[in-house]
Amino acid sequence: MIEAGSILEGGCLCGAIRYRLTGPSLFVSQCCCRDCQKATGTGHTTIVGIDKSQLAIQGTPKTYTNHGDTGGDVTRHFCGECGGRLYTSGTLPGEIIMVQAGSLDDPSAISPQSVIYVKDAPVWDRFDPALPQFEAMQPRHTHREAAR
Ligand SMILES: [Zn+2]
Ligand SMILES: [Zn+2]
Repeated sequence: MIEAGSILEGGCLCGAIRYRLTGPSLFVSQCCCRDCQKATGTGHTTIVGIDKSQLAIQGTPKTYTNHGDTGGDVTRHFCGECGGRLYTSGTLPGEIIMVQAGSLDDPSAISPQSVIYVKDAPVWDRFDPALPQFEAMQPRHTHREAAR
């Protein structure tokens, strides 16, 4: 959870793209869906949900768009030089952007609140047993409640 008004900075591996994120975060989740696995080469990716207006970017990320599980287009933004993943946007849920927590300068500044798409998690991945787990997408109202 990122408090309202607090600012976190981040960027890609080579530093060509930098960003500034202003709290509050709407949700912080660990996503185990197959698309996240393929896009990052990891068992799950940790994402920080914010409104589009809360992210300021320096540099021009490359994008890749495919069809998401929720029916809308999902666009992944990454550095064209080093391939470092930065954030994801989509037609659903619209103005929400999901920043890759590992691209933050201080990834420990956030802490996950839930694990989503557990149905796709590889058998070798491990999660904090205290976190609520969801088979697929977390119901949206829970995102909002978690943000309070
Ligand atoms: Zn880069
Ligand atoms: Zn995912």
